[in-house]
Amino acid sequence: MRILLVEDEDRIASFVTRGLGSEGHAVERAATGRDAIGLVQYETYDLVLLDLLLPDSNGRQVLRALRAHDQSTPVLVLSALGEVEDKVELLDSGANDYLTKPFALAELSARIRALTRQDQERSDTIKVGTLTLDTRARTVVRSDLKVRLTTREFTLLEYLMRHPGQVLSREQLLQAVWGATYHTSSNVVDVYVRYLRKKLDIPGVDSPIETVRGAGYRVRSD
Ligand code: CA
Repeated sequence: MRILLVEDEDRIASFVTRGLGSEGHAVERAATGRDAIGLVQYETYDLVLLDLLLPDSNGRQVLRALRAHDQSTPVLVLSALGEVEDKVELLDSGANDYLTKPFALAELSARIRALTRQDQERSDTIKVGTLTLDTRARTVVRSDLKVRLTTREFTLLEYLMRHPGQVLSREQLLQAVWGATYHTSSNVVDVYVRYLRKKLDIPGVDSPIETVRGAGYRVRSD
């Protein structure tokens, strides 16, 4: 696995890098929050190990930068005892687990295995642009915010997200989501796209569902 280690202490960084390296992982290190934020914005990792107390910032800022565009990469926080007053708050802000320093390599490896297994179980997620849809839990997350959808709204969004960037006609959507029972003159697709936008749109930001005049709708994939 490709792992990003955000850690300012050389001693801990080399311990983790050597240990995980011997297990076959490729560990890349960032020693400052600034370097880490730069990396998580442009690189893709299978896992992020995150120290909270960094010389130039707090690990939470790195977590926010990552979660702004990526809800799925597991993040394991590594921190000294007492650095985290509120574990629940940390998990709520997007961390997946928490390990107190000092820790043994075996313990770190076990947590990593658990997190990445969990990740495989969650592989039923579809991510397009700022939207993440979990087909098993039937939940939708837009830019870190969980959005509640009705069954029909969910099915419509899932169908659009399974065809990212592709223009789908009202007829195609009607058939895919409502089946053959609806008349093609029905405006039910437009009505439901409106419902979706009401729940998903953020003021001042382009809607994740784009109207293509005379053709249909598509989900923005950028
Ligand atoms: Ca530190």
